[in-house]
Amino acid sequence: MARVLVVMTPAEGHVNPSLGLIKQLVENGEEIVYVCTEEYRTKIEQTGAQLRTYTFFKDPDLKPIEFNHPYQFAHRMVSSIIQRIIPEVLRVIENESYDYLIFDSLMGWGGQIIAGRLGIPAVCSISSFVFVEPLGSGYELEVSNEEVRELYETTMKLTQQLAARFDVEAPAMEDITGHPGQLKLVYTSRYFQPLAERLDDSFIFSGPSIVPRNDAPTFSYERLHTSYKQTVYISMGTILNRDIDFYKLCFTAFHDLPVQFILSSGKQTNIEPLVDYIPDNFIVRPYLPQLEVLQHVDAFLTHAGMNSTSEALYYNVPLVMLPLTSDQPLVARRVQELGAGVIVDKDNLTPEALRTALLEVLNNASYKQQACVIGETLRQAGGYKQAAAAIMNFFADCRLSAIPSLD
Ligand code: UDP
Repeated sequence: MARVLVVMTPAEGHVNPSLGLIKQLVENGEEIVYVCTEEYRTKIEQTGAQLRTYTFFKDPDLKPIEFNHPYQFAHRMVSSIIQRIIPEVLRVIENESYDYLIFDSLMGWGGQIIAGRLGIPAVCSISSFVFVEPLGSGYELEVSNEEVRELYETTMKLTQQLAARFDVEAPAMEDITGHPGQLKLVYTSRYFQPLAERLDDSFIFSGPSIVPRNDAPTFSYERLHTSYKQTVYISMGTILNRDIDFYKLCFTAFHDLPVQFILSSGKQTNIEPLVDYIPDNFIVRPYLPQLEVLQHVDAFLTHAGMNSTSEALYYNVPLVMLPLTSDQPLVARRVQELGAGVIVDKDNLTPEALRTALLEVLNNASYKQQACVIGETLRQAGGYKQAAAAIMNFFADCRLSAIPSLD
């Protein structure tokens, strides 16, 4: 069986989708070495993989931002991810050998550096949509020519320095953020992926990785549906979830609706100043077992993070979306385009706008129907079992074809 190196960016949204796949590969007999930070030890070791750690100080830089030009995304990738993580990874696996690599798409060209140094093929793990057009495309007009030139020069300079350091060829600008690798694993369906017709068969669409979460807290569902017929879940994910003014806005918008609300306020959020304002129809918890909660609700008010969105659609839940940064606008646009939810503009956020959007989704059955259509494609995609089988078959074939013929 193969010895596999897995390298992920230390972030929930990138590590979590890989866990089902890694557990399955271990069960199928592969030996997995997973390189990440100490923070993810329990989750990773539960899959049966061996963890190798490196130190990575999360600086404010790694927070998601809204990209107004593709070069901003490329620059962010090189300076915050490739430059900081790749040398660490190469250091902790020095002198080791592997059969193939699975790496996070957020490392882009960085994955190619590792695979090139080890002389092995690679699988790119894509936990968002495939960026057929790089993030920031379509917004070009907001960035001046001067800024674009400066971004290009600083990014290419850094890239050339790294290429010299690792003794590899420097990529062209557009190849920095690409998805290199013999296979690309995407945790969604071809139907949900925008511009999927431009993607060849090296892209495996396995659907979201829905695996039971041993670390999820318990929640009592008996209270639901006793006072109100409909239930709505609210969560802004795990990163940008400390805006208590937004939670207050929700209270104002929804306090008099005959709907039960369940709000995930965030593990690090101080909700003390909110306690006196929580309306009777709200249940507020720092963290919820989201995969279970979604199976009991009629709609989900979300920031349109890829994981939250996919999980909701997997369970046929229509969405009200307040995209903030990063890939969220892209994800939200795709959901709206397929009719499974509506977007609320963060720059025109009022209680009325939120309420109107939620009532639209709750009262118009078409959103639920379209959520079911996408949900069906996500469930049919085969999940981590089929992803593991596809990867193992591919590399088994590669090994066979590399064996010299006996004739
Ligand atoms: N999540 C959860 N309970 C909560 C809030 C979030 O289980 O109360 C999980 C959710 O199921 C999802 C992840 O945290 O898998 C959030 O990922 P997403 O990509 O949606 O957003 P991010 O946190 O990366 O902004």
